Amino acid sequence: MKRLDDLQFDNRFARLGDTFSIEVLPEPIAEPRLVVASPSAMALLDLDPAESERQVFAELFSGNQLWSDAEPRAMVYSGHQFGSYNPRLGDGRGLLLGEVRNAAGQSWDLHLKGAGQTPFSRMGDGRAVLRSSIREFLASEYLHALGIPSSRALCVIGSSTPVWRERQESAAMVLRLAPSHVRFGHFEYFYYTRQHEHLKTLLEHVLAQHFPACLEQAQPYAAFFREVVERNAELIARWQAYGFCHGVMNTDNMSILGITFDYGPYAFLDDFDEGHICNHSDSEGRYSFSNQVPIGQWNLAALAQALTPYVDVDELRASIALFLPLYQAQYLDLMRKRLGLSQAEDGDEALVRRLLQLMQQGRAVDYNLFFRRLGEQAPEEAVKVLRDDFVDLVAFDAWASDYCARAAREEHDQAQRRQRMHAVNPLYVLRNYLAQQAIEAAERGDYAPVRELHEVLGQPFTEQAGKQRFAERPPEWGKHLEISCSS
Ligand code: AMP
Ligand code: MG
Repeated sequence: MKRLDDLQFDNRFARLGDTFSIEVLPEPIAEPRLVVASPSAMALLDLDPAESERQVFAELFSGNQLWSDAEPRAMVYSGHQFGSYNPRLGDGRGLLLGEVRNAAGQSWDLHLKGAGQTPFSRMGDGRAVLRSSIREFLASEYLHALGIPSSRALCVIGSSTPVWRERQESAAMVLRLAPSHVRFGHFEYFYYTRQHEHLKTLLEHVLAQHFPACLEQAQPYAAFFREVVERNAELIARWQAYGFCHGVMNTDNMSILGITFDYGPYAFLDDFDEGHICNHSDSEGRYSFSNQVPIGQWNLAALAQALTPYVDVDELRASIALFLPLYQAQYLDLMRKRLGLSQAEDGDEALVRRLLQLMQQGRAVDYNLFFRRLGEQAPEEAVKVLRDDFVDLVAFDAWASDYCARAAREEHDQAQRRQRMHAVNPLYVLRNYLAQQAIEAAERGDYAPVRELHEVLGQPFTEQAGKQRFAERPPEWGKHLEISCSS
């Protein structure tokens, strides 16, 4: 276990030089204080969890103090936002502090979000508010706990520095960890500015650090793109299976590692609605829940365009063509598991589709709790209880009878079935209203609720004593909360 002073930096991205990122010092915030820390994220840096209690922790993770080996830098990138190309984005309020190597030899980017203005801030103040920092923290750690690849969050630091959004709020910072902060938009920037030699440098950096197996292939860059396609198909399959709506799938928010990245007005579905739009400035529904799949492919095509100087177009096309079938296979596999089915049968896809149609009709079924409750009792018993929430009972009974017959063809032991299903179906879901309650307490200076919520969500599949209220269906007022996009 390490102390804060013992972190070992090796800043490989910084060494690429000023073409790729610019040196910027964090702008301090007033009276930094720990809001919440993630012991499991701290463990990625071998940090002793007790280190979060030291005042120096809040000083370092608010940028008020710096490690001598840290090299804070703002990265340059561009990207497609809501389908239109924005030629220059870059880190407008976040800084890459450096890369820390842990005892296992893994390297983690330390990214401080909300660290003040940079040359990429445009009209922005370079800040993040407490509300959005807590939301990013909770989601990063929850998706990870669910088994959905994500950037991680080490802590949220609050302050007394005022920030203006729709109202006065306070500045906060979230310390984000990821093996890399390179986005699709990094490649787009060097492609559209016709700096193709730098595009190549970036490719070589990314392959050497993060895709070493591709270097063994006959065409390393083509192999890299193919792997990005595969990882995104798998990622989005997980989002769809668990009802996660990202909300802002702009290409600057897409990680080349295939991890969930840059949390904004995200939501987990309460009732199942394939058209759900969680971002209320997304008036066209470009990033609605079901559009995440075609948008995933659209984003990959945008990345492919940026790689055309170095990869044959037919190769790129062939990889993009893999996306949908890979997604479909992964998604079906996950949904089978959620239904407690371990073998594949031909009718499974229809069984899943019919269930979702029934859920969509009534909108009274809690999407994630449905699967949990389906595993709680033997199939015949479970469907009897669940039936009450459906509207078209004739259709539900037909589905239930097909499902029970299908489940009967699996092994029979209900205790095992329950255990298997509970291991993939969370009891605790990060619902917007739960986050909102914790945020409102934190805004009043009470950090106990956000810490408790984070702790409960850290083991989403395990029933925890005294935490029943986190496992309940959302109250009516708590569904479809409009989350402000300002952050
Ligand atoms: P986001 O919506 O957080 O993905 O950010 C999109 C772009 O806007 C990125 O280039 C951010 O760095 C920039 N940005 C967002 N909020 C701010 C802010 N408050 N100040 C400066 N830049 C910002
Ligand atoms: Mg972003």
